[in-house]
Amino acid sequence: MPPPDPGWASINRGVLICDECCSVHRSLGRHISIVKHLRHSPWPATLLQVGAGDTGMGGMRTGTPPCPLGPACPLQMVHTLASNGANSIWEHSLLDPAQVQSGRRKANPQDKVHPTKSEFIRAKYQMLAFVHKLPCRDDDGVTAKDLSKQLHSSVRTGNLETCLRLLSLGAQANFFHPEKGTTPLHVAAKAGQILQAELLVVYGADPGAPDVNGRTPIDYARQAAQHELAERLVECQYELTDRLAFYLCGRKPDHKNGHYIIPQMADR
Ligand SMILES: [Zn+2]
Repeated sequence: MPPPDPGWASINRGVLICDECCSVHRSLGRHISIVKHLRHSPWPATLLQVGAGDTGMGGMRTGTPPCPLGPACPLQMVHTLASNGANSIWEHSLLDPAQVQSGRRKANPQDKVHPTKSEFIRAKYQMLAFVHKLPCRDDDGVTAKDLSKQLHSSVRTGNLETCLRLLSLGAQANFFHPEKGTTPLHVAAKAGQILQAELLVVYGADPGAPDVNGRTPIDYARQAAQHELAERLVECQYELTDRLAFYLCGRKPDHKNGHYIIPQMADR
């Protein structure tokens, strides 16, 4: 159940959250939950600043128009996931009536933040206490490989929640498919699945990872004439170094024109 007025998004969990829950998410750390404010956080420059209550952005599959300022957008990814039930991935076993009878339940809006809500949020996202558990296998490596292969083929479709579910179960975003010679991000780039690419990048996929022939997901997007996706992947690839450059020089390199160093510095 999304909060009535979510001000925040957890972009790696695909859920919208309120101020109270956000403070708990932040306390868990970025490796557990990457939170951004729906209106005040710096989203990529091409983003539409969507109103907090507007969950109609999940329309990639239902035919509603995509973000007018560009579909390559983590915000739209979150809205799509949130409106297609990503929350139930993290609360899977709570939906099972047998579990409900055992007395485990969701925190209610009227519960205290500490300890009730914070303990619930910790169990849900840090302990992954309610996600679907796969039957135990002798070799966990085999399971992860199977899941990663499923992820590799799922990212060519628009079904984001399936991919988030696979990632939550242990599929690897950078899995190199031994037979196909590519990673999931190559597949998403070739298929023009912008939101899948956003999700994969959030889970650590490398836009510069070479395929078996040395070609990157960025190359795949360009070859498929997915220019917006290609640009977005370039932005993701240099996000960290760009931030450092901006911190040091107050300017960002211009990747569109092929400048990978600060233009001002290059002129010297
Ligand atoms: Zn909340």
